[in-house]
Amino acid sequence: MTKRPSPPRYHLAGLWQRGAPLTRRQLLRASAIGAAGLALPSCTSRAPALVDAGLPPPAPRPPAPPALPVDLASCRPIADVNAPAPSFLADDFSRPHEVLWKLDEHFANHGRPPPPREQVGLVIVGGGMSGLGLAWLLRDLQPMVLEQAPRFGGNSKGERWQGIEYSMGAAYFVDTDPDEELRRKFYTPLGLDKAWRLVGDDPVVTSDHLQYRFWEGSTDKMRARDFAKAKTWFIDVLRHHYPDIPWAPGGHLDEAALAALDSKSMKEELEEKLGTALHPHVATLCDHYAWSTFLCGWGEISAAAFLCSFVAEFDGVVVLPGGNAFAAERLLEQTAAAVPPTNLRPSTLVIRVAQAADGVDVTALGPDGAPYTVRAKACVMACPKFVAKKLLVDLPAAQRAAMERIKYRSYVVANALIEAPLNVDAYDVYLLGSAAPGADLQAESTRQGITDVVLGHWAKHGDPKYSVLTLYRPYPYEGARAALFDPASFARVKAELEAQLPGILSLFKLKPEQVRELRVARWGHPINLSLKGQIADGTWAAARAPIGDRVFFCEQDNWPAPCIETSFLCALETEKAVRTALSG
Ligand SMILES: Cc1cc2nc3c(=O)[nH]c(=O)nc-3n(C[C@H](O)[C@H](O)[C@H](O)COP(=O)(O)OP(=O)(O)OC[C@H]3O[C@@H](n4cnc5c(N)ncnc54)[C@H](O)[C@@H]3O)c2cc1C
Repeated sequence: MTKRPSPPRYHLAGLWQRGAPLTRRQLLRASAIGAAGLALPSCTSRAPALVDAGLPPPAPRPPAPPALPVDLASCRPIADVNAPAPSFLADDFSRPHEVLWKLDEHFANHGRPPPPREQVGLVIVGGGMSGLGLAWLLRDLQPMVLEQAPRFGGNSKGERWQGIEYSMGAAYFVDTDPDEELRRKFYTPLGLDKAWRLVGDDPVVTSDHLQYRFWEGSTDKMRARDFAKAKTWFIDVLRHHYPDIPWAPGGHLDEAALAALDSKSMKEELEEKLGTALHPHVATLCDHYAWSTFLCGWGEISAAAFLCSFVAEFDGVVVLPGGNAFAAERLLEQTAAAVPPTNLRPSTLVIRVAQAADGVDVTALGPDGAPYTVRAKACVMACPKFVAKKLLVDLPAAQRAAMERIKYRSYVVANALIEAPLNVDAYDVYLLGSAAPGADLQAESTRQGITDVVLGHWAKHGDPKYSVLTLYRPYPYEGARAALFDPASFARVKAELEAQLPGILSLFKLKPEQVRELRVARWGHPINLSLKGQIADGTWAAARAPIGDRVFFCEQDNWPAPCIETSFLCALETEKAVRTALSG
């Protein structure tokens, strides 16, 4: 039984394959039955229907979402665009910073936390993909979900404009076979597999041109053999040495082998395995993939974490209208249908979690700013560890130290709303440039700016007269957060994006005057860095360990694999632990 691999944003399915993708399961099966199975899917024939029609075929329309109670309808992960955005969208950290960063002061000024006013079985702190996924699995237990933001979804949020639903953050995930656990437990029951679209072929950009067939050496034909060699090595990892993260016994690698791979950076691993055959374009692709998916460079990232994401994309990549926010919407709707509407609480900032004699006291500030306490039999921290460590009164010192070793960096995602059709057959276009990765991450990333561009309308084309380009601008170095936090940063960041935009538009034969608006989403610390050596030194395991069988952790940062698969796999594991704890 294969476990689900991770993976994130900067997808490679199109770079690897054209036509119908071969899933990892099929590859494995093929390898068992003989040499014919070793062949990759053909990289020569483009799907004729796509080319002939000019436009991608319309994605099947998902059924209209069910109505939510009035006060929940305004906190959906996907929101309508009603007016221009005068400042950053996404993270609004004014209240969390004001309160959580000065908790001692808060309690000094406002006194002790109030006594419990409600008693429930389970409180989940955080309504991102992990918290919503867990709440949905445990909906029979009527969990209460406390989410500090006005909208649920965490990093998986989106917007709707002219009938087009596009992502402001998490965008896609890896395809699955029907019998795989994530498919059976989440994707099919939520109807995701009826709404998603499978990515086919995607180009990279070098010398201001879209270049298809990357792995055939289209960007440097003289060294085509080196691209083939790299591809062969990645496929070998996928088929024979795949590093499953989250790891569990029975995976492809045993624990020691995973730790050994984790102790090396991807740069070290690639240089060791490919030597002089490592083409600078392949190196740059891997470096940019690490920036865009993990917010760190190929010299910092754990080879295990990198390969878990990178090679998994051979399985094929699927995209929903609005990106992964679509999945968050379905989770919210179905959970709302099963629990009392007052159990799903947006704009509710948890400020304290303390074990009590017969449970856990969770203190929060509601939308009106007034504190109240809920006594729960169990509590799940589905918020990031850098927040959890501030809230948990009874956090053991070693666990706090492990949480402090986990690092986070920043991201900006901008959506260009375009009053023109866009007839390019691609989902995600990689702005590769031609340089080999440099040593100075900050300088390199500032020079590069946007790493890749997603056609935001690709999974669901609303009115074909309009289109949306989603621009991904990661900050894979220390210090960017403070600069983005500065109130003056909106104008500066927007100007930088606007300066890069005309070159991007020209790739698609679009003009700047066709852009109606550039809407900029800022994510302060959305992704845990998968730094090398932290599986091996026990950091992740120590940080996510349950406390006293009453407090559990369920977040992407349980593991060095920040993605929807990790959220859902952690939710499945936490579901079992919570049921056991509550039944006891
Ligand atoms: C730009 C970007 C692109 C990405 N692209 C992809 C992609 O293509 N595919 C993919 O699989 N993944 C992608 N990811 C990773 C993405 O983060 C995960 O897929 C997933 O959404 C993480 O969900 P989560 O619930 O674990 O964490 P989060 O989304 O961080 O959710 C945590 C929640 O806790 C809440 N919270 C925090 N503190 C408190 C508090 N004190 N009280 C109450 N609530 C609190 C937060 O507001 C948030 O809603 C991307 C991430 C980013 C930022």
